[in-house]
Amino acid sequence: MRKQIAAANWKMNLTLGQAEKLLDNLLAIDWTPKTHQEVVIAVPAPYLFPALAKLKASGREHIYIASQNAYSEVSGAYTGETSAEMLQSLGVTHVILGHSERREHFHETDEVLAKKVDTSLAYHLIPIFCCGEPLSIREAGTQNAFVARQIEKSLFHLDVTSLQKVVIAYEPIWAIGTGKTASSAQAQEMHAFLRSVLAGKYGATVAEKMSILYGGSVKAANANELFACADVDGGLVGGASLVAGEFEAIIRALQ
Ligand code: PEP
Repeated sequence: MRKQIAAANWKMNLTLGQAEKLLDNLLAIDWTPKTHQEVVIAVPAPYLFPALAKLKASGREHIYIASQNAYSEVSGAYTGETSAEMLQSLGVTHVILGHSERREHFHETDEVLAKKVDTSLAYHLIPIFCCGEPLSIREAGTQNAFVARQIEKSLFHLDVTSLQKVVIAYEPIWAIGTGKTASSAQAQEMHAFLRSVLAGKYGATVAEKMSILYGGSVKAANANELFACADVDGGLVGGASLVAGEFEAIIRALQ
């Protein structure tokens, strides 16, 4: 059975006190995960260490702390950056790579992202690799080719063992932080297409095992319908993950 994941992306939000309170609330949720279900919480970099300590103290299983980024190089004179090795040494298990906000504001290219994927995998971090088209591409009807190209350029150099460690998140840019969600039909169509692209390169058995999350204004009110789609294996959630009650409902919507 494919992994079903509810992933929170807190982005650059919350003070330490607010982050601690939110994490306490999330760790206190009375939720018994099925064996294939996971929760991943991507906190701002300064909160990784305290978040990991809280998670450990809670004894909760199937909940993981993620970084929102990692640098492409292993170490050296890269002031302000965080390496995959540092994250691994903290006990971080997952890293979001290729989020559209990083592609847009920090000019991360497909080529840089391919390197970040490699470096992250080398330090045993699970990349949550984001792809997704802007509104202009969706309106032109060329979203499939656009998104296929993103995964081909940043993931298709991987061998099959490495690829299977990656989680893909389809996040149409026009749906991120806009309150405008892709319909469940649009999400399902793209997820099935992505799975067919993966199958074309790595075979149907591998493609069937890959988790593909949907991201873009997921909230309590739409999570059930989205997660019920055959090829949607959970969600990457921004805004709604900052409200404990909303994110709890999203976790409970995992199938
Ligand atoms: C995101 O940050 O990845 C995201 C999907 O944000 P939101 O849920 O707020 O649209």
